[in-house]
Amino acid sequence: KSFEELGLDPRLIRALSKKGIEKPTPIQQTAIPYILEGKDVVARAKTGSGKTLAYLLPLLQKLFSDSGRKKKPAPCAFVLVPSRELCQQVYSEVSWLIELCRVQLKAVQLTSSMPVSDMRNALAGLPEILVTTPACIPKCFADGVLDPAAISESLEILVLDEADLLLSYGYEDNLRSVTSIVPRRCQCLLMSATTSSDVEKLKKLILHNPVVLTL
Ligand code: AMP
Repeated sequence: KSFEELGLDPRLIRALSKKGIEKPTPIQQTAIPYILEGKDVVARAKTGSGKTLAYLLPLLQKLFSDSGRKKKPAPCAFVLVPSRELCQQVYSEVSWLIELCRVQLKAVQLTSSMPVSDMRNALAGLPEILVTTPACIPKCFADGVLDPAAISESLEILVLDEADLLLSYGYEDNLRSVTSIVPRRCQCLLMSATTSSDVEKLKKLILHNPVVLTL
C-alpha cells in the first residue's frame, strides 16, 4: 500500500516525498491506519524499521485537525524515549515534518540535563508536542515547569518509544508519575523491540483494548 492508501494527509505525503520517502515500511503499513482510527497500539518494532514515522505521521495528522483551535496550556502529545540521543533523533524527525508541512504546530525536546530556565523558555511557546525522557517529567513537576493537572486536561496522545528500554533504564518510578495522570480519553502507543513481563505490565496499566502488532 502507498501512504495515500493508508489515509495520510497530502501535506505529510508531500513532506515525505521531499525527503525521498515514497513507500511505507511494513510497520508503517500496519500501524498507521489503526493509529489514525484512534486505537491504542502496541507494536513490536526495532530501530531501523521506520517505527518513529509509524507513530509520528498519524500523531501529527491527529493534531492537524486540532490546529486553529485555542492553544492549550500544556502539550497534547507526549513522546517518551529512554535516552537523550533518541530524544534528539525523534525531535529532529518531528521538526522537519512540521517545517515541510507548514503547519502551525510546535514541538520541543526536554532532557533532564537542561537548566530549568531553558525548560521554562521551551514550554513558554506552548508547544503541542513534547519529546522527553521519563526522568525529566518529575523534575518538571517539582520545578513547576509542567503542571500535572494541566497535562491531565490537555493530553490526547502518549507514545512510549522503546518501552523495553524505558523500563530497563530504571525509569519505572518516573514513568509512574506520567502514567498516573494519563486521562482515559488519551490514545496510547507503545513501541518496543521485545516484550518482557514489564512491558506487559505497562501495557495493562495504560492501554485500553490495544491492537497488538508483531512484525
Ligand atoms: P527508525 O526505525 O524510526 O529509527 O527509522 C530509521 C530511518 O529510516 C530514519 O532515518 C527514517 O527517516 C527512515 N525511514 C523511515 N520510514 C521510511 C520509509 N518509509 N522509507 C525510507 N526511509 C524511511
